[in-house]
Amino acid sequence: CGIVAAVSSQNIVPILVQGLQRLEYRGYDSCGVAVYAQGKDAAHSGLQRARSTSRVAELQNQVSSDNIQGGTGIAHTRWATHGAPAVHNAHPHFSWGRGPETAGVARPGKIALVHNGIIENHEELRASLEAKGYEFTSQTDTEVIVHLMDSLYDGDIFEALKATTAQLHGAYAIAAFCKDEPQRVVGARAGSPLILGVGKSHAENFIASDAMALAGVTDQIVYLEEGDLVDLQLGKYWVIDRDHKSVEREVKTVNAHS
Ligand code: GLU
Repeated sequence: CGIVAAVSSQNIVPILVQGLQRLEYRGYDSCGVAVYAQGKDAAHSGLQRARSTSRVAELQNQVSSDNIQGGTGIAHTRWATHGAPAVHNAHPHFSWGRGPETAGVARPGKIALVHNGIIENHEELRASLEAKGYEFTSQTDTEVIVHLMDSLYDGDIFEALKATTAQLHGAYAIAAFCKDEPQRVVGARAGSPLILGVGKSHAENFIASDAMALAGVTDQIVYLEEGDLVDLQLGKYWVIDRDHKSVEREVKTVNAHS
């Protein structure tokens, strides 16, 4: 239903939660946020999330009490299509697999993802991912995307997104990041709107389902086109089109009021 995501050199969680608040008017049954939380070393760093079937205000309370902070993050308001409104079905979803190399021990999540829309071929994808050892923790169509990305990940999350979207049928706007490349957020749009927001400070860049989510944060907006994929890093971004060719999309000054 609603997406807000960012890379920034400062803690981005307040802006993500405020963005969800600006999207609340669209309606939703649950909400969530995930960040890359940096600890004192790699072993203490990783994915962290809060999810709620209540209001965004309640999510805000969880974020404060769990001290969820990070410069890279993704947030979502869900309007369930597959799987009941419940915390375990709320986005962001994490990749989580069991593989022969880990001898049956669950591999900790590496990729976090939010999605708007419907994946039509989710049943076939789920069956083939389960056959590879991926464990599903939700009834959503969305969760196949994050495990598929994990299965195709080879050190470059943008390449994994390209390979993943080539296998998806249906409508989607996606935002995702990987803990192994923490200052990077990638996105894709096909059949569901997605915009890019160019930040004004802290080297920030954003993606969102609606420019309204970024009101007061940035008015520099790129309306992504059907089939576009986007790679956000600190202070820079790239857009490629449906044929994976680099494209320059116009940056518009948009005054979104809420
Ligand atoms: N189909 C997904 C789900 O049910 C996404 C729904 C949405 O657009 O919020 O979780």
